Amino acid sequence: MPSLACTLYEPAEPLLAAQTGGAAAYDLLIRGGHVIDPSQGLSAQTDVAIRQGKVARLAADIAESEARQVLDARKMIVTPGLVDIHVHVYDGVAPLGIPADPNCIAKGATSVVDAGSSGAHTFPGFRQYVVRLVETRVYALLNISVVGQSTLSSGNPFGELLDLRYANPALAIRTIEQNRDVILGVKIRLSRNIAGENDLRALGLAREAADAVGLPLMVHIGGTYSPLPKILAMLKAGDLVTHTYHGHEGGILDDHDRVLPEVRRAVENGVMLDVGHGAGSFAFRTAEKAFSQGVLPGTISSDVHQGNVNGPVYDLATTLSKFLHLGISLEEVIKRATSNPAKALAFPSGTGSLKEGATADAAVFELREAPWEMVDSMREKRAGKWRLRPVATVKAGRVYGNSVIPVYE
Ligand SMILES: [Zn+2]
Repeated sequence: MPSLACTLYEPAEPLLAAQTGGAAAYDLLIRGGHVIDPSQGLSAQTDVAIRQGKVARLAADIAESEARQVLDARKMIVTPGLVDIHVHVYDGVAPLGIPADPNCIAKGATSVVDAGSSGAHTFPGFRQYVVRLVETRVYALLNISVVGQSTLSSGNPFGELLDLRYANPALAIRTIEQNRDVILGVKIRLSRNIAGENDLRALGLAREAADAVGLPLMVHIGGTYSPLPKILAMLKAGDLVTHTYHGHEGGILDDHDRVLPEVRRAVENGVMLDVGHGAGSFAFRTAEKAFSQGVLPGTISSDVHQGNVNGPVYDLATTLSKFLHLGISLEEVIKRATSNPAKALAFPSGTGSLKEGATADAAVFELREAPWEMVDSMREKRAGKWRLRPVATVKAGRVYGNSVIPVYE
């Protein structure tokens, strides 16, 4: 068994108390927390009782004596396990990959989607050496390029679609058909250093693969050869745009900082706007301008990888904290990292929810009120006030700690 050092993060240690005595009705009780579960419109102090890996009961006051173990979540926020639909965890193969467990499940994200690190040639290794071995529930969007994201690094600035012959719908379709339990869609990156002038042709090939398997397409925008409206015109309901609030050319704003009408039309047509913060893809300025015009993200993802895990992204919780600063309520922020992403892709039912009967994946956070300096991908700063700090994670009723003590700026 691969091991995440799954001891509880130190300050949380006394929170978990083993109960002794007679046969308990529940295996675990998450007690006294403020539960925010947008999948059932819940935001209230509630206890969560878990039995055999499933949520057994939600109620205001469940006796500790009814459970074998108690996780004391008083003064904490309890959410469904976070769902991060843009991460890179093909550690050792994609140069930007990082290990999944210390960066995902240990930080409250129980289900994550690796967005295109692997392509048809490298997916079997991803399945074998990542998905199968880690504790985090890892899914994938398959890169339309057979080599996935194995070519581009700071020492080799040549992306996976500069040679369009690597975009192979037939092999992508075959790989997806054989791995539908893990692969939830197709990924393509269209920046100039990745696709050169091939962006629209490459997108056409990704479109072909996604349509053939009936799954959504996630499109990475920013710094593209073709203008954004031409890219958006090729998207359909259910597709996702990631890096929506990037600060480079080819963005969602016109020269007068107005949201492009084509962006609004895409959203009306069912295209999902995803955040994908990343190292170069989230600008406070773009988000502030867009939010003031009512263009909010459908999903908030981190794009956490080698180039940003030590800042400015750190983890999904830190990204969520930035959206609190931008004026989105805690409930609406949590919705965009639980029930919304769960709806956006075909996860197993119950993902992103604490409804009775759902798999008992949960996350416990401290919502700390303390000044902190938030940094975006353009190195612009904002003065933050609230910060979500992961304290403990529960996967199928088992408690995981925060194995890596976060080192924040
Ligand atoms: Zn990415």
